[in-house]
Amino acid sequence: MIYSGQTLCVTKGEDSIVELKFDSQGESVNKFNKQTLTELGEAVRAIAATDAIKGMVVTSGKESFIVGADITEFTALFSASEDELIQWLLQVNTLFSAIEDLPFPTVTAINGLALGGGLEMCLTTDFRVMATTAEIGLPEVKLGIFPGFGGTVRMPRLIGVDNAVEWVASGGQNNAEKSLKDGVVDAVVEPQQVVAAARYLLNQVIDGKIDYKAKRQEKLDPLKLPPLENMMAFQTCSAVVAQQAGKNYPSPLASVQAMQRHSGMKRDAAIEVEAKGFAKVAKTTVALSLVGLFLNDQELKRKAKKYEAQAKPIRQAAVLGAGIMGGGIAYQSAYKNTPIVMKDIAEKQLDLGMAEATKLLSKLVERKKIDAVKMGGILSKIRPTLNYGDFASVDIIVEAVVENEKVKKSVLVEVETNVRDDAIIASNTSTISINELAKALKVPERFAGMHFFNPVNKMPLVEIIRGEKTSDQTIATIVAYAKNMGKTPIVVNDCPGFFVNRVLFPYFGGFSILLKDGADFQAVDKVMEKFGWPMGPAFLMDVVGLDTGIHAAAVMAKGFPERMSYDFKDAFTVLFENKRLGQKNGLGFYKHETDKKGKAVKSADVAVSELLKSVCQPTQEFAEEEVIHRLMIPMCLEVVRCLEENIISSVGDADMALIYGLGFPPFRGGVFRYIDQMGVAKFVELCDRYASLGTLYQPTAKLREMAKNGQTFY
Ligand code: NAD
Repeated sequence: MIYSGQTLCVTKGEDSIVELKFDSQGESVNKFNKQTLTELGEAVRAIAATDAIKGMVVTSGKESFIVGADITEFTALFSASEDELIQWLLQVNTLFSAIEDLPFPTVTAINGLALGGGLEMCLTTDFRVMATTAEIGLPEVKLGIFPGFGGTVRMPRLIGVDNAVEWVASGGQNNAEKSLKDGVVDAVVEPQQVVAAARYLLNQVIDGKIDYKAKRQEKLDPLKLPPLENMMAFQTCSAVVAQQAGKNYPSPLASVQAMQRHSGMKRDAAIEVEAKGFAKVAKTTVALSLVGLFLNDQELKRKAKKYEAQAKPIRQAAVLGAGIMGGGIAYQSAYKNTPIVMKDIAEKQLDLGMAEATKLLSKLVERKKIDAVKMGGILSKIRPTLNYGDFASVDIIVEAVVENEKVKKSVLVEVETNVRDDAIIASNTSTISINELAKALKVPERFAGMHFFNPVNKMPLVEIIRGEKTSDQTIATIVAYAKNMGKTPIVVNDCPGFFVNRVLFPYFGGFSILLKDGADFQAVDKVMEKFGWPMGPAFLMDVVGLDTGIHAAAVMAKGFPERMSYDFKDAFTVLFENKRLGQKNGLGFYKHETDKKGKAVKSADVAVSELLKSVCQPTQEFAEEEVIHRLMIPMCLEVVRCLEENIISSVGDADMALIYGLGFPPFRGGVFRYIDQMGVAKFVELCDRYASLGTLYQPTAKLREMAKNGQTFY
């Protein structure tokens, strides 16, 4: 034994080959945290002080190789100054370079996932052998940063500019075939042979059959491209990367710029350039937001796991209603392997539901994601029916019939008499209070909300609503079912609109008031899309449907009359009254059509401005800032209220629900991150500036208190 630590050890065999093995004790995966880096330093010093070593193989004692840097340590690290961050990076890089400079050949056996710093570690050795099942990548840009342990330096020198830009700036995870093709690894073997193959390769090198020094030298030298070609290559890549990432996500382009800047330099100088570039992006609010999201997401996964431990098994599900949502739920459940009975009262709807599932699956077959046999298997897991005959074996029922309290209550009564006593019942209502619906049931303990978003197969969030009487096991089982369906469940407490719609409608309220005051809806859409929303509020209302929107707005107005009922007739109502229902009938704020390729396209429709004249002031221009404030303040304040009223359990849950459920711009990190980054005091000041617009703009007393005390949410 040359070195033995908590996270790694080094042994020397009789063949004079040393094995550096990452195997963090008491952990399920290896990560680069402070302790691992300290121990790696000690291990490398111990290796350097050992005589007669012929070569080194780097391995992992876990199922994965190294999953990356420990992101929980990031926030503290990133709060240091740029200079301190650069010093820290240079220190780690000295260590990585010392591994690269060892006076004998080195090979890594990549047995499983190697991401970020994990892959950068692999790049320090002369060769890499990868298991067929492993995946590798540099996902740093997804956190608003870029590789900082020499990844931007070694990648282009190893695999050329084009490939390196793709690996670094896309942040993608790559399989063995692609890794070999691009030259990131030198061989791919079956997982059980990966260490033996690495040793075999090492012995070939030791026997002089492969020249490792030449290979190593390439990583130490400047890039080999002639200057003009070099410039051209980087310029082309930069344009593509900038366009793909968009200007709200600066780190992919910054990574390319760093690679270009240090392309003519030797390794150590190049690493300094990387470190400086890294420190700059790490200090941006985007990095702070994206790292925050990652941590929030980890927390959600932890919470879901806890629930799953108490869940009842779900072997068979059922959905009531084969409409847009019911059909989507049936598809997603079957696709993720839970058989589902789909019940409707209309045969035609069942046919439509099955046709929709078939269409979605055919697309997957076309894209070669699944084959026809698999498609048949998935479809056979959906059993359409007009009666309750098959319901005795059902473990969970999701009600997704029309959004009408009376209809839903009568359906729930019917369900309860047709299912087993221990079956769990959920409602996909988007606005109706779960406590209210629960009144229809004899056993409200087994009932909760399970709010999916449209389209079900694409939207990651499922909002799970706990009623006053809902039991823990009911919540746990619904969480588990959502997880089985590949979704992110967030548990909230009951109120009209729950969390997501409760905070969305004040945003629409702000939009209505702005339209009344003469804003042009297309201009507003543009501003909000620039702010980062996937679509502006007018387009969003068209997608939701004006009928649905108006119905939901009425429920919200009843639930929160002090803020969400208005004393004027709004643009939504005028459009609805003129049979403009949005995308569903081709006419809303916009005209909606499909192009030759079947893609949905929207265009302006002059008729709308005429219609809106009756309820809106003459069109006038509003500053971008004002548009943003007038829409965002009501949403932010409602989010704050939901936290104060314990509708949502944490700031992290709220921000993730907004991102997964509404597409809140991820680079802004969510509403609480947005308020924090502005400063609570400044936010309250802003609210007061718009106080004349009404109660939607009124901060809570607690928020004022926070502003006074200089507190933050995170
Ligand atoms: P939809 O009108 O497309 O479908 C409703 C279906 O329920 C119809 O097929 C109808 O035949 C069926 N139905 C009516 N009474 C029934 C009964 N007694 N038994 C069985 N089936 C019955 O509606 P949708 O858009 O799918 O919405 C369904 C639910 O999902 C609503 O509560 C809605 O608020 C909620 N929701 C909708 C969306 C959305 O964007 N569409 C998003 C989230 C939640």
